[in-house]
Amino acid sequence: MAPYIRKRRECAGAGSSAANSMSKKSILSSLPSVDEILKSVNGIDWLKSFPRKKVIQAIREIIDETRQAIVDGIRDNVPVHMDSQIEDRIKKLSDFSLKKVINATGVVIHTNLGRSVLSEEVLKRTAEIASGYSNLEYDLQTGRRGKRYSHIQSLLSEITGAESALVVNNNAGAVLVCLSALAKGREVIVSRGELVEIGGAFRVPDVMSHSGCILKEVGTTNKTHLYDYENAINENTALLMQVHQSNFKMIGFTEAVSTIELAQLGKKTGIPVMYDLGSGCLVDMKACGIHNEMTVQDAVAAGADIVTFSGDKLLGGPQAGIIVGKKELIDIIAKNPLMRALRIDKLTLAAFEATLMYYLDEDTAKTKIETLRMIFQQPEDIYARAERIMLDIREKVNSNTLSISVTEAESQSGGGALPEVGFKTFVVSVKSSLMSAAQIESSLRSSNPPVISRIKDNTLLLDARTIGDSEIEDVVSAICNTLKQK
Ligand SMILES: *Cc1c(COP(=O)(O)O)cnc(C)c1O
Repeated sequence: MAPYIRKRRECAGAGSSAANSMSKKSILSSLPSVDEILKSVNGIDWLKSFPRKKVIQAIREIIDETRQAIVDGIRDNVPVHMDSQIEDRIKKLSDFSLKKVINATGVVIHTNLGRSVLSEEVLKRTAEIASGYSNLEYDLQTGRRGKRYSHIQSLLSEITGAESALVVNNNAGAVLVCLSALAKGREVIVSRGELVEIGGAFRVPDVMSHSGCILKEVGTTNKTHLYDYENAINENTALLMQVHQSNFKMIGFTEAVSTIELAQLGKKTGIPVMYDLGSGCLVDMKACGIHNEMTVQDAVAAGADIVTFSGDKLLGGPQAGIIVGKKELIDIIAKNPLMRALRIDKLTLAAFEATLMYYLDEDTAKTKIETLRMIFQQPEDIYARAERIMLDIREKVNSNTLSISVTEAESQSGGGALPEVGFKTFVVSVKSSLMSAAQIESSLRSSNPPVISRIKDNTLLLDARTIGDSEIEDVVSAICNTLKQK
């Protein structure tokens, strides 16, 4: 308490005129001490429900701010509602940093908002495994040490058609370990049209150099032919690599070599073909208008020897990097020391196995996996949700200052997947004569829970595709509180 009291004395002498300083002094002396507040009824209550450190910090901050306001002449009394100010501050200080937010952007695989949404059942399964011991690396049949990858190997083989599989922390890690294990110190041939940057510092040329491989670029930005690969092959070639363009699309005078052709060349020359598929779709996307997205099964069937993809993009599971392919190569990769550095933990493994189970039946996957459910959602259902949000808001906010409607728009899948595809969606468009769209957007962001929206043509848009039924009430109250502030 000592610094607090000392500071109080210093401040008390800071007034300009003598009379002024006298009255300030008396107001300041009526400020309660940290100790007094801690011993009050509220103080005792706070200590029961919040960490002591945060309670004291909040009390100090509010007292200090109040004292400063008195010294500066902004206040001439001790606020009556100081306790509620302190309580608000305690809550703010002891709040979690990682929070649940409502995604009203319509971007289903939103990397900044955590990509996949896991279902209750997947979480239940994860909690079950994490809350006790498990056979993570224990063979129940022999009573000896087992392999953590054994739990998903046969499932992944069954779903993708590949001989064997591994799973690591994320797809960037999967690419790194594959390159390091299969091509360290040797050449990897990649088309110039596929030297992509995925974001977050994942650039194909950089990953190559980090894994100790020599990048051999072939072809041009827009066109690469089979003979480009053929001509580049020499005795030091370790891999022929394809990279999914993921987050951009080339149109016009373009040409790329198909996985089938490249795999044939690989077979002929004895060089393995690796495909970094990125998003790694496991279901047929034609039902939502996507005809040219290669699934993992397609890539395996086309003859790619190794295919890598993310666990939390279109697959809709936890963050993970999946490696499927020829057993001979998978066994080599499994022995690489990077596997230990990139290994996935039991929570992820439990969530991933539970997610994969849904893929044993494609229709189940499309309804039970949130990412797929949101992408395959019927426009009528999105419309119905948007309309409900609009009507609820209209009922509660003064219609003279508000212009609100449901309009058709397009949402993106996000996550570096399907960049050119817009999915038909419905958005609630909100305009207020009292606030700009930017002001509404910012206020929604500071709601509890925060609502993340987008702005187009100075209109705030709430995309009903990614808003859950159970989140509607929170979205409506966030909007109402925002518009009522004025
Ligand atoms: C997204 C992506 C990656 C990185 O995957 P993470 O799971 O985010 O690490 C790598 N390659 C491609 C082609 C991608 O689309």
